[in-house]
Amino acid sequence: MTFRNVRKAPTILRPSGENNESKRGRAMSKIVMKTPLVEMDGDEMTRIIWKMIKDDLLLPYIDLKTEYYDLGLPKRDETNDQITIDAAEATKKYGVAVKCATITPNAARVEEYNLKAMYKSPNGTIRAALDGTVFRAPILVKGIEPYVRTWKAPIIMARHAYGDVYRNVEHRVDGPGKAELVFTDENGNESRQLIHEFEGPGIIQGLHNLDESIDGFAHACFAYALDQKKDLWFSTKDTISKIYDGNFKEIFQRIYDNEYKEKFEAAGLEYFYTLIDDAVARVMRSEGGFVWALKNYDGDVMSDMMASSFGSLAMMTSVLVSPTGIYEYEAAHGTVQRHYYKHLKGETTSTNSVATIFAWTGALRKRGELDEIPELMRFADLLEEATLETIESGKMTGDLALITTLENVEKLDTEAFILAIRDTLDKKLGA
Ligand code: NAP
Ligand code: MG
Repeated sequence: MTFRNVRKAPTILRPSGENNESKRGRAMSKIVMKTPLVEMDGDEMTRIIWKMIKDDLLLPYIDLKTEYYDLGLPKRDETNDQITIDAAEATKKYGVAVKCATITPNAARVEEYNLKAMYKSPNGTIRAALDGTVFRAPILVKGIEPYVRTWKAPIIMARHAYGDVYRNVEHRVDGPGKAELVFTDENGNESRQLIHEFEGPGIIQGLHNLDESIDGFAHACFAYALDQKKDLWFSTKDTISKIYDGNFKEIFQRIYDNEYKEKFEAAGLEYFYTLIDDAVARVMRSEGGFVWALKNYDGDVMSDMMASSFGSLAMMTSVLVSPTGIYEYEAAHGTVQRHYYKHLKGETTSTNSVATIFAWTGALRKRGELDEIPELMRFADLLEEATLETIESGKMTGDLALITTLENVEKLDTEAFILAIRDTLDKKLGA
């Protein structure tokens, strides 16, 4: 079972009458695009892979139209991070973006790149600009089996991206005293609630969230589930947190009843709310194949568990969806720094490009859907199939070779793997 749309591969890219000399697709007429994709380049090993994917897997087949933004750290530094804001604005304008992994600077990176400032995470900046929700989907392939035996289809995680413990206020209590929750409205009226009478040392934390943000999260989840034709599960701890988590539950239910119920029913889909502990138990016994929406912290923790139980971080894609239907596709992993340093030393690397390839196919398919270019959508399907078939034939990168159940595996270096995919693709295209 795989995450692609399983369709028979027609040789759509070959205009009738074309002769067989067209080696590696070059002589074929390329697929023409209408609207540019917003292309965000990135850092380190993924930047190397980015170029290989474009050169070897895309440009020979597509008259690729992109509006290019270099989010590599040197360019972000040069522009005081304006380039990231420009890229986010372009994404709003065109509606579909594809992004390479980027470095989020820490103190070590500030020194390494001699940066003017410790810039914010580009993903954070883009997410804030689009008010988006991140959906993470594992790529399933024969030979890389999920650790949970019952899972047959991907479980897509949707994590709320605002507030809760990520915007907390914390306080250390050193000795006896009274902690209260005080809210002052705009007219100066106060309401107070006792949190705890401390008799000794302890800790306090203040959390918040916004109806507007939860609304956007709910819309993104319902719209994405409909788009993917999958059931939507949502879970919180509203039995314990009756007002806070209860608010999440109520907003989801109201938006579902008012705006999505009929569409879900017409599509034969289900919206299912349950307590988080019940959801976890059900997820482990399920066959997969649904979208699981979670609050910020639950999503953080569960998506890392999900990524490792589906096999590999390098087989996890990520898409940011705004409540208004803007899409930004990327791989879930980072810039694979350790491999990049090996690469710089001239050593051979075996870095997995699958999630980055699927970021491109996701974006191209969405562009094709919006612009009504069926050849582009079919190319995206074919490239995904070629990628998975290459792995299924035993050709893979080192990370997968370590965990595969296949025998007679050939471990390929970074570029050899991409070229092997290209061979499979050309065979599928009949070139
Ligand atoms: P990482 O790049 O995801 O890599 C962590 C480890 O996971 C790698 O060292 C490698 O293990 C394995 N791995 C990840 N992707 C792989 C792939 N495609 N092929 C093969 N192995 C893969 O995380 P990191 O090293 O913690 O972070 C590096 C940089 O990425 C940081 O500067 C961070 O800020 C950035 N980052 C960016 C994003 C984003 O842009 N979305 C997300 C996360 C992190 P082995 O070394 O054992 O082979
Ligand atoms: Mg995490």
